[in-house]
Amino acid sequence: MKNILYLCLLFIIACTSTESPKESKTANKPYNIIFIMSDDHAEKAISAYDKSLINTPNIDRIANEGILFKNSFVTNSICAPARAVLLTGKYSHLNGLRDNRDRFDGSQLTFPKLLQEAGYQTSIVGKWHLKTEPTGFDYWNILIGQGEYYNPRMIDNGDTISHTGYTSTVITDLALDQLKQQDPDKPFCMLYHHKAPHRNWMPDSKHFDLFTEDLPIPENFWDNYENRQAAEEQDQSIVNMYMGGDMKLQPEHYEGYDYGTGGGPPQFDMEKSWLNNSYGRLTDEQKELWDAHYDPIGEDFKKRQLQGKELAEWKYQRYMKDYLRSVYSVDENIGRVLDYLDENGLAENTLVVYTSDQGFYLGEHGWYDKRFMYEESLSMPLVARLPGVIPSNQTNEDIVLNLDFAPTILDFAGIDAPSEFQGESLRSVMEGNTPNNWRKAMYYHYYEYPHGWHKIKQHYGVRTDRFKLIHFYNDIDTWELYDLQEDPTEMNNLINSSDHQDLIEELKLEIQNLRKSLDYKEV
Ligand code: CA
Repeated sequence: MKNILYLCLLFIIACTSTESPKESKTANKPYNIIFIMSDDHAEKAISAYDKSLINTPNIDRIANEGILFKNSFVTNSICAPARAVLLTGKYSHLNGLRDNRDRFDGSQLTFPKLLQEAGYQTSIVGKWHLKTEPTGFDYWNILIGQGEYYNPRMIDNGDTISHTGYTSTVITDLALDQLKQQDPDKPFCMLYHHKAPHRNWMPDSKHFDLFTEDLPIPENFWDNYENRQAAEEQDQSIVNMYMGGDMKLQPEHYEGYDYGTGGGPPQFDMEKSWLNNSYGRLTDEQKELWDAHYDPIGEDFKKRQLQGKELAEWKYQRYMKDYLRSVYSVDENIGRVLDYLDENGLAENTLVVYTSDQGFYLGEHGWYDKRFMYEESLSMPLVARLPGVIPSNQTNEDIVLNLDFAPTILDFAGIDAPSEFQGESLRSVMEGNTPNNWRKAMYYHYYEYPHGWHKIKQHYGVRTDRFKLIHFYNDIDTWELYDLQEDPTEMNNLINSSDHQDLIEELKLEIQNLRKSLDYKEV
């Protein structure tokens, strides 16, 4: 109510002001917000973080004109749960969405509902993936489930509509249309959510020619998982990727080869799904361009008859090239949105955030996918810009979480976060003034086992600036400790190290304290 009164007051001031309308609008209007989230985008695949794989000038632009977070983490590294944390500002055990099988309870309090109450125009365009209809949005236009890379079907405020074209571009076209249609006198918050670069990495045909050179293979690609049982028993190794769905080969090209387990449940037929639902949904024109690129790769593969180590490394190159091409389209389309803000005088008054629902493995430990509390999937890229408020060219190393998004967005909108939100506003951190009592440790919890994909054991743990302690449970009972300073790629489990036993006890206590503070019933 206070906020509505505030907005009314601003309106009266704006109407009676002697300043030109343009000046008063900029000076008084609450900030707009564009929250960009992609899917499964590893930090390493953004040049602002790491220049070894790809150039992403548009995401880099947000970072350069604002802040880049180096220690930004998710509380549960998997798609739908991360999205529920974003909306509710609560951990999975409280928002009810522990894994991709659960449905989101849209009746609970979310930050878009509070923005709506305060007079914001709220919208979400692109990936949603929460099974129930969006609540708290004036406009929603979402992909069905995981969504498709080409010619996506989308639900526009309840109506299913089939689009033609490449999904990253289709989503951006719809987002720009919505920005154009909004009431320019009211602030807005748009969640602009890409499907890419989620598996199965189908690039836009105009990017097929990128990344022709082979990419560097991570040092620990041939990890033997010594002393790490959960890592050994996963099913997310690149060597087992699907020949069709992941490698984009046609059946005649991989005759005599295993199709690959691909991490899926046994009843899931990826071979059929790929041919009918993914490749199968391309238009004749799209298929022609597709085949012109992938058929020669398939013919070459058939001729070479690779096996063992050579086959695994070939699969890595195939995976990485399509992954990076899919990222490239996300970056290019973000550039279109940044241009729109520039051209319409909105850049100065709009908070722009870029992040991903979590990180991803790009060959580290021999893997793709996410889920584990290890660095590559625990980390999410996070950059943000608001000229004049967030100083430019900042790099920040504080521990920040996806749990913090809801209170942060509310803070920039001038709304107090409800006490049930568990995160902290990042506004002062973004402004370059981290509070002295900022968190020194974060708690993590992953649940999707034994059902679901990839056979990653349930686990929880704590990460501080230097150490990480993880407990894998359910059908195993193993602990792992890493010294991230000495062992950044987490290859050396120190759980039995005599020098670290006191530290392990301290970290176990820290886990208990964090669970208590986060309202776990069992501590
Ligand atoms: Ca994801």
